[in-house]
Amino acid sequence: MECPSCSLTNPPDAIRCDCGFDFRTASTYSAANEVIVKGIKMPFLSMVVFMLKLAIAAIPAVIIIRIILLICSFIGSVGSYNVDDY
Ligand SMILES: [Zn+2]
Repeated sequence: MECPSCSLTNPPDAIRCDCGFDFRTASTYSAANEVIVKGIKMPFLSMVVFMLKLAIAAIPAVIIIRIILLICSFIGSVGSYNVDDY
């Protein structure tokens, strides 16, 4: 399969050319579509407030993640017993 963009010969099952041309969408993948965060300009005090809010928000988030993991491990252990039955 020859790339229409750079005329490089690619394997038939190739999804994307080395130059970035996507064979499925027939368009060139460009880095411009990516979101690039170069830097956050923020005053020191609002940064401190933001970090405090982040730390406070992280507490229930961690609890929720632990509950989800607990449920997942419970389902996982129950699932493994069912696999043995079949
Ligand atoms: Zn190409």
